[in-house]
Amino acid sequence: MQPPPSARDVLVLAQIVDLVRSGAGTTRPELEAVTGLGRTIVNDRVREGIDLGVLAEVEAAPSGRRRGRPSRSIRFRTEAGVILAASLGEVSLHAAVTDLDGRYLAREFRSIDVQDGPEHVLRAVHESFRRLLRRLGSPAPVWAVSVGLPAPTDHPTGRVVTPRTIPGWAGFDARSWFSARCDAPVWVDNETNLRALGEWERGEPQERRDLLYVKVATGIGSGLVTGGRLHRGDSGAAGDIGHVRVTDDPAAVCRCGKTGCLEAVAGGWALVRTLTERARAGESPVLAERLAEVGHLTGEDIGRAVAAGDEAARWAVSRAARVTGTAIAGVVNFLNPGTLVLGGGVLRTGDLFFEEFRQAVLDGGIELATRSLTIRTASLADAEGTTGAALLSAESLLRPSALQLWLAEGTPVAAAARLQAVQ
Ligand SMILES: [Zn+2]
Repeated sequence: MQPPPSARDVLVLAQIVDLVRSGAGTTRPELEAVTGLGRTIVNDRVREGIDLGVLAEVEAAPSGRRRGRPSRSIRFRTEAGVILAASLGEVSLHAAVTDLDGRYLAREFRSIDVQDGPEHVLRAVHESFRRLLRRLGSPAPVWAVSVGLPAPTDHPTGRVVTPRTIPGWAGFDARSWFSARCDAPVWVDNETNLRALGEWERGEPQERRDLLYVKVATGIGSGLVTGGRLHRGDSGAAGDIGHVRVTDDPAAVCRCGKTGCLEAVAGGWALVRTLTERARAGESPVLAERLAEVGHLTGEDIGRAVAAGDEAARWAVSRAARVTGTAIAGVVNFLNPGTLVLGGGVLRTGDLFFEEFRQAVLDGGIELATRSLTIRTASLADAEGTTGAALLSAESLLRPSALQLWLAEGTPVAAAARLQAVQ
């Protein structure tokens, strides 16, 4: 039996795995050159990585001209473990099983109501995970669980912080809830943060500039990736823009208890409120008919009314878009991102919101902040939250400081608590 690897061996192995994974070194000679280490050390550590199942040899394609044996390249085994990723909106749940590169192996969508409280909603998430794993048969072991919640979340502890619109979640420790049920390290973050990260990492076109993601759905939130990292702020509240004051109109009563919030004019729930009133007042025949049929309106109904040219619906959506765009113009002036992405259920109401939003950002933005700003809609079709969740946990598991904690054991499961603590 071989002696256990020394701390230094594990450090070098973690470095080599990271180089292979990032593509900075994918053959033994390249790894020697990049690390400055000798051939024997590199060979030994690569062999350990292969034995642990995180590295694999790749047969090189035959080379026409070169003589001699080509160097076989080495790849990181993204199939060594799987990640359970979920992204929760106020009424939607996206769940997925991904490989260690955030690529989907299976995914599903469910309707939820976050007001049902954390126990009920997280049980739905857990059921989704189990169903997806069953559908895959026997995938690789679960290496991480990563969940985005529709509330400000204290990232290191995974606790929900001051959720003004979902008071039943106040202080709830979502990470411990999953840790008690899943034998793997758990990460919890704000859902809009994860959407921003997903678009930054995998959105099209790939720009890799600082990215501001604005989600307009039932509520309104935003997430920022700057210098390639999520900006969460001092206590996890960064990006929580839905409750900034945008109007003195006393009719704009917000569900947070204040008046004049952005959400109270432009959130999905406020649009439904405004247009229900208009339909009842006889100003929207299309929506009045729908209201009489089913008793309430949805975002889809509003989208159909906009497409049908209904004036009240077009007025309300345009106003919501312009108020949102004007508020975001202030953020753009302040932060100067390279890319501004609009996502969330609002995209299902057609192009009108995006066009008006875009124009309001440009009208309210200073020239230096907007002249090279790309403004686009989310490109991952609502999968950006689960993609971001998977990539956040993969990054947290696989950076060298984390790899050191678990590589020698061959699985991050045994080091779950320590891995969560170093993020
Ligand atoms: Zn509010």
